[in-house]
Amino acid sequence: MARDAGGTAPRCGTYAAGVTEAPIPETDPGVRAEIVEGVRRWVQREVVPVASELEHADEFPDELVADMRQMGLFGITIPEEHGGLGLDLLTYAGVVEELSAGWMSLSGIINTHHIAASLLVAHGTEDQRRRWLARMATGELRGCLSLSEPDAGSDTRNLSCRARRDGDTYVIEGTKSWVTNGERAGLVALAARTDEGITCFMVEKEPGPRAGGITVVRHIGKLGYKGLETVEMHYAGHRVGADAVLGGPDGLGRGLTFMLAALEVGRINIAARAVGVARAAFEAAITYAQQRRTFGRPIAEHQAVQQKLADMGTALTAARLLTEHAARCRQAGQRADVEAGMAKLFASETALMVVTEAMRIHGGVGYTTDLPIERYYRDVPLMLIGEGTNEIQRMVIARGLIARYRSG
Ligand SMILES: Cc1cc2nc3c(=O)[nH]c(=O)nc-3n(C[C@H](O)[C@H](O)[C@H](O)COP(=O)(O)OP(=O)(O)OC[C@H]3O[C@@H](n4cnc5c(N)ncnc54)[C@H](O)[C@@H]3O)c2cc1C
Repeated sequence: MARDAGGTAPRCGTYAAGVTEAPIPETDPGVRAEIVEGVRRWVQREVVPVASELEHADEFPDELVADMRQMGLFGITIPEEHGGLGLDLLTYAGVVEELSAGWMSLSGIINTHHIAASLLVAHGTEDQRRRWLARMATGELRGCLSLSEPDAGSDTRNLSCRARRDGDTYVIEGTKSWVTNGERAGLVALAARTDEGITCFMVEKEPGPRAGGITVVRHIGKLGYKGLETVEMHYAGHRVGADAVLGGPDGLGRGLTFMLAALEVGRINIAARAVGVARAAFEAAITYAQQRRTFGRPIAEHQAVQQKLADMGTALTAARLLTEHAARCRQAGQRADVEAGMAKLFASETALMVVTEAMRIHGGVGYTTDLPIERYYRDVPLMLIGEGTNEIQRMVIARGLIARYRSG
């Protein structure tokens, strides 16, 4: 198996023939630290005081998103030649952790945007990159990812949305489910079936509930992850030009391969956001444990509470290291399905454990809406499911490991 020799470019997997993901230049560690610290300070000052109120009201955070645009967070992974900041995935993961430590939904507002951008960067034609990336980098044009359908979540091969060729256009018919950011987005990375197989279309649309033949039929109510929309979208004879096929004619039938590779960036986002939420819960718990007294001493002095804090802190550190390892692999241009899967699996399960233990450590107040622990507790389960469930991650990890150890 490929082992990390300790350098900055670990050897991970390799993509199938014909699929390449260009390496992302490493960001100077000083610049990375400065950017992540800047976002941390903004989150503590602007996000933490309002997050629970906005979340309970299920309100889109317009002002916070305006600040995020100002800070360049919609262009963080987009190369500088296209107007972005051109930062590496380690920086992206650091920023996502900080955003999520304040309010997980903020990381969801940029997640599928960056997946759509990474699809364009890796597989778009020159014309497609020039047409969309600069406006995406500023956040003027927001992207989203539309892979899942009511009958095709884990089982992506069961997609039924179709795009029929008609002269120089394609006519799209079908229903897509779970489209996070779908209503506000102006560019949808859409998986649809064509004669060649599953193809990724970059569908430009007006933000809003209706555009051409596209209708947002339903806003999906959620346990947590509030403030941003997750919608069901119906395509009734929506027409796009043939130039909407990601990668041009060569991209026909290769959409699923492109999208599954791009989901590695999404899984790094999920892992980093799990670390962010878990960190917020851990910090709240370790602070509270030193303030709350029972039986004449702080609960942090009871061994049962110390055991919890030790396990929480250990798992949190391991989750962050796995996330950074996945980011390093992927930015080195190497296949990181195993590494991103491991990071997403471990970090999300860690977040569930840490948040549950943080609630126990808080006793009764942990269960109230006076503290953000209940919000973390409702946000965390999404990370067990989104970007491929953890059961599916285990399949991806096992298959990848078996292939790397294949003998004979
Ligand atoms: C809030 C939210 C936001 C989302 N945002 C997006 C988005 O922006 N874009 C998008 O395209 N999708 C999005 N999704 C969809 C998400 O990726 C899917 O929900 C997820 O992949 C699971 O698919 P499913 O819901 O159809 O579950 P199913 O595939 O029906 O799975 C049900 C259960 O069966 C298990 N299972 C299925 N197959 C196997 C197997 N072979 N072996 C073992 N166990 C199996 C699963 O692990 C799960 O426990 C979002 C989902 C949520 C909840």
